[in-house]
Amino acid sequence: MTAPVAAPVLDVRGLRVSFRGFEGVAEVLQGVDLTVGKGERVGLVGESGCGKSVTMRAIMGILRAPPARVDGGEIRYLGRDVLTLGRRERDLLKGRDLSMVFQDPGTSLNPVFRIGEQLDDVMGWADRRGGERTSRRTRRGRILEVLKQVKLPDPALVYDAYPMQLSGGMRQRVLIAMALLNRPTLLIADEPGTALDVTTQDEILRLLDALVQHDGLSMLLISHNLGVVRAMTDRLYVMYAGAVVEEGATADVFADPRHPYTQALLRCVPKLDGSAVYAGIDGTLPDYTRPPGGCRFHPRCGYAHARCSEARPPAFEVGAGPVAHRSACWLEEPR
Ligand code: SF4
Repeated sequence: MTAPVAAPVLDVRGLRVSFRGFEGVAEVLQGVDLTVGKGERVGLVGESGCGKSVTMRAIMGILRAPPARVDGGEIRYLGRDVLTLGRRERDLLKGRDLSMVFQDPGTSLNPVFRIGEQLDDVMGWADRRGGERTSRRTRRGRILEVLKQVKLPDPALVYDAYPMQLSGGMRQRVLIAMALLNRPTLLIADEPGTALDVTTQDEILRLLDALVQHDGLSMLLISHNLGVVRAMTDRLYVMYAGAVVEEGATADVFADPRHPYTQALLRCVPKLDGSAVYAGIDGTLPDYTRPPGGCRFHPRCGYAHARCSEARPPAFEVGAGPVAHRSACWLEEPR
């Protein structure tokens, strides 16, 4: 399910990933389609366990295999199929063009090395992989520049600090600096700031958004926080049990959610004025080793009918706006 995006930076088609374990084969991704255009901010939402992080890890090439296995599909970055690249080319791609902001600043930095050493390591590795020889002094200049860019108050002091000497918010800024260091074109942000208190998280998200917009980067924002995704993305994919079930312009999906799962997700958002009670979604995500046939949402869907358990619904066009709005639900099948 993809919207037409001019010159996609990232184009994922039919991505299937499974995991081998004692319980059998868990078919986690069942054909994910997703695109990110140049300069676009795209959201990927869904409840924990729906396959967001597996999708992101497959794109970054950091799935641990075994037990993970890519069973099919394509991941194209600027037209090149990432899955067919050699190790060196792929390493270079994820060290430079593709970059990632991890969610937990407490565990993503090595506690025994100074911040400057860790950033130098990331930059030096990418330079060597790319056949460049940069001096430590040049790298230090770039590192101080990026630490300043992410609004850390005293870059030189932070350069010499150990992670434990920084607050959670400062460590998250360091992780953003690390992601920007090699001037990527696509930033993948996996629940950035989730481990922080809400005010610091808000500051971090605003900073990230400003940096992405200022540098014209493309961003894939992975989150279960619908408020964050609404504020920070132009287009949105909703994922359930390893597949995209709805996609569209973020404003359209929030104004007119069409898939029953998206509607249920939105009902889960608590209202601060107390006008609605947290509804929740009955049931749980399916066991991926024995997924239900047809639409994987059917055991939890209030609209399920006979056909839903027999065949998986394709993506149907549901909107008339300039950006494709699609929903993979039999209720949308044209009569
Ligand atoms: Fe519900 Fe059927 Fe639509 Fe799936 S296809 S979301 S089970 S109505």
